[in-house]
This record gives sequence, C-alpha cells and structure tokens, in this order.
Amino acid sequence: MNTTDTIGGHLIAGEWSTDGPTAVSDNPARPDDPVGEYVLGDAATAASAVGAAAEALPGWRSTTFVARAAILERAAALLDAAREDLAVLCTLEEGKTIAESRGEAALAAETFRFHAGMAKISTERVFPSPTPGETIRTVRTPLGVVGIITPWNFPLQIPAWKIAPALASGNAVVWKPASNTPLLSVAIARILAEAGVPAGVLNLILGPGSTGAALVADPRVDGVSFTGSVPVGEAIRDTVTARNGRVQLELGGHNPAIVFEDADLDLAVPCLVAGAMGATGQKCTATRRIIAVGDIHDALLERMAEGVTALAVGDGMTDGIGIGPLVSTGAREEVAGALANAISQGASVVAAAADSPDEGCFFPPTLLSGDTSLSIAHDEVFGPISTILRVDSEDDAFSLANATEFGLSSSVFTNDLWRIDRAIHELESGIVKVNAPTTGSELHVPFGGEKSSSAHAPREQGDTAVDFFTRTRSAYIRPGTVR
Ligand code: NAD
Ligand code: MN
Repeated sequence: MNTTDTIGGHLIAGEWSTDGPTAVSDNPARPDDPVGEYVLGDAATAASAVGAAAEALPGWRSTTFVARAAILERAAALLDAAREDLAVLCTLEEGKTIAESRGEAALAAETFRFHAGMAKISTERVFPSPTPGETIRTVRTPLGVVGIITPWNFPLQIPAWKIAPALASGNAVVWKPASNTPLLSVAIARILAEAGVPAGVLNLILGPGSTGAALVADPRVDGVSFTGSVPVGEAIRDTVTARNGRVQLELGGHNPAIVFEDADLDLAVPCLVAGAMGATGQKCTATRRIIAVGDIHDALLERMAEGVTALAVGDGMTDGIGIGPLVSTGAREEVAGALANAISQGASVVAAAADSPDEGCFFPPTLLSGDTSLSIAHDEVFGPISTILRVDSEDDAFSLANATEFGLSSSVFTNDLWRIDRAIHELESGIVKVNAPTTGSELHVPFGGEKSSSAHAPREQGDTAVDFFTRTRSAYIRPGTVR
C-alpha cells in the first residue's frame, strides 16, 4: 500500500482535496530534505468538514456495534500491515528514533483492536424499580459530532486513543492534527477509509492552529477532545463549555521522580535517563525534576551524568541513535533559550550528551542541578532537559514533588512499602509509578492528569474512554396494558 502522499490533503465527506495554498512538511533531522507538502485549511474547510460529519452522523449512529467493531478490527490489521511505512514517516516528520516510531505504530494498531473489543462490552446498567412490571435501565447514545485535535509528539498513538473510541461509540469525527506531522495523519486517515469507515464519519482537516480554532468554535460540534499545550487547551475549554459542549483536555506536565536513599541506582538511573530524555524529552509525562533525598544525591548525580553523556544523538533513521532531533527549529530555539535562562539563574550543567550534530534541530540532552528558584523547575520546557534537586527528608520530597500547577505523572524509587503507599495516595498526579519511569502507559488503563494537566472529564484510554464519547440516558419501561 502507498501510505505516503507528496501533497497531503483534507478528507471531507469521503473526498480528498489538495486545493488551496500549501506548506512544507520538513524533516527536523535533514533541513534540506523536506518530507513533502500539505494543504492549509481555513475556517471554510473546518465548516465543510463539520457539515459532512453532521450529515454522516445519523447513518453511523444507527450502524450496529458489530459492524463498527469489524471496521475497527480491519483498521487494526491495516495499521499493522503498514507499520513500517508509518514508522518511517513518523521518524521523517517528527524526528523520534525509528525504534520509538515502530513501538508507537504497533500500539496505534493495538488501540484500534482494543476498542473494537470494547465496543462489544455493555456499559448499560439496570436498576431495581418500586413499580411492579417496570424495568429501569441506562442506554448510551453517541455524543454526536466530535472535534479531535492532536499534537505532534505522539502523532500515531494520540489520534488512535481518541479516534478509536469515538468511532466505536457511534460519533462522527473531524480531526485536526498538528501541522508538524500532516503526511502521517493523511496516511492514518487513508487506512481508516480503506478499513471501511464511511464517507463523512471521519474527516481530516490540515492546517495551522486557526483551522483548529474554527473547528472548535462551530456550534454543531458537540464535544472536543484535545491534547496539546496549556494556553490552547484553556482557550478551547472556554469556547466549548460556553455553549455547554463537552471538552476533554490533556495538557502539560512537570513530572517529578523522587529517589529515596534506599533506591537501587542500577534500576533507577536507566529509568530516569529514559524518562527524562526519551523521545528527546518531548513527552507530556517526561521526568522534568529528579528529587534526590539526602545522601544518595551525589552518587545519583554521578551515575546520571554518565548515562546522559553516553546518549547518542542523531538522525533517528540511523542505527544506534538513541535520541533524535527536536521537532522543529522553533522548538530548538525555545529549548536553547530555556537552557540559557536556567544557567543565567544559577543552574549548573551537570552533563550533556557528548556529540550532537550542528545541522538540523538537534539538541544535546542536558542534566542540570539547581534549586526551586529556577524557572525551569516550574515551567514545562518541552525538550531533553531535566533538573536534579536535593532535599533532606521524605516530607520535603513529597511537598516539592507536589509544588507544581501540573499533575500528570510522577514516580518514586524505593523499596519501602510505607513510602510507596504514601506516594500512591499523596502524590497529586493522575499516574504514579513505583520503581519505573514517569513515562509510558498501558492502553487498556485509564490515562490522564490532575490539577492543570487535564480537564475534569472522563479519562482517555481503557474502559473509561467511551465515557467521554457517549451520553447516558435513563429509560423507564412499563408494560403497556392494565393488569
Ligand atoms: P499545541 O497546543 O501547540 O498544538 C496542539 C494542536 O492544537 C495542534 O493540532 C495545533 O494545530 C492545534 N491548535 C493550535 N492553536 C489552536 C487553537 N487556537 N484552537 C484550536 N486548535 C489549535 O501543542 P503541541 O506543541 O502540538 O504539543 C506539545 C504540548 O502538548 C506540550 O505542552 C505537551 O505537554 C502537551 N501534551 C500533553 C499530553 C497529555 O496527555 N497530557 C500528551 C502529549 C502532549
Ligand atoms: Mn516536520
């Protein structure tokens, strides 16, 4: 199958279109070798996609769950068959290593398979009734037309997390992916169409943030599921909730990992290096703060420095590369600026990856040490920088871990069951990992954050994913004759 278009287009009502101005999709590892072009949609594009979804909704809503599940199963099989092409395209457009892309492509397919299975599991409930002969039960109806807006950092998996349960539960979708990964998004939409998702049920619109803003502002959109940055998420929330629409937000993080005195550094250090620097630090769950408790600090610092220095930075398509480039020149400027700012505020550079190419959007993974007065100890910098902070007590470790507006993920390294219990109950984050990286999650388990990291909406992934994409209705059914 040809999964790579040279000009990526919109998919609206089953028709592909490349009419209009285009932009370049570049490869952050190879500035002179762009991946292709994509068309730039505007408000009119968003409006026609929403119109197509509204038109397709009644037919899709009344399709049986068996038929919908069969389409998702076919999508999973086609995604599996195209896995290598998708992984290559992911690395070319986003920059992550081919190993990271392959893992992500496999999980995207698995996500469709999981939700095909979930479609067959009843989420209805039955209640006792005080009225003789009466049955009371809930039914689920689809939310309706849903807008799905996704970031570039997991350009295969995050769309799968949202699109699969949305389709499984009978919604019509308009998807606006990030403009750094347009051709990969086109490849995914082509596969879904080939799997049998009917015309208008999945629409893809490409373009800048303003295209997404137009989608969100359309009153025909019943709900929006968004993953991305805090300011964009907050603007979407305000727009959608003002018309009583439903909104799901997965936003930033500033994830801590606490390393207690009894931690096994042979286990902790690889988890911390991978958690902080994997995917070039461009994960919402990346380890941004490493909190060393007491005397373990010096040994941890030394071992972390070795681990970070040894990371191989380069083109993600090259064998043996552990860390690809940042996604864009803009991202590189931002991360470089944040590092310069941290140094000017008194942070010390403990270690940086030894060689990092000059051409392209490469940035050496960097380990800092400092204190909580640093901006980088509070603000999310979306790149491979992590800061080691020292505290003297367990109480201080927990309060520092929680001293952030965010609450996505956190981890603790210890064998002390009391501390582990405390971590699970007191760390204010939607995900708590024990002796494991802050990054990574299982697609059959609910995922999401607390505090400013998420909206207070049903969790993505797992069996809760469908809660966002459906409404619950309570039905009271009595016999139609007098007895
Ligand atoms: P972003 O907010 O810049 O863009 C995300 C998407 O929103 C893109 O498709 C973009 O085109 C669109 N968009 C931009 N402006 C818009 C507007 N005004 N209205 C509607 N849509 C608009 O984020 P990004 O740079 O693509 O992704 C990085 C961010 O995502 C980081 O902050 C990261 O923490 C976050 N993230 C969070 C999670 C999570 O699960 N919590 C997962 C991955 C990434
Ligand atoms: Mn790109």
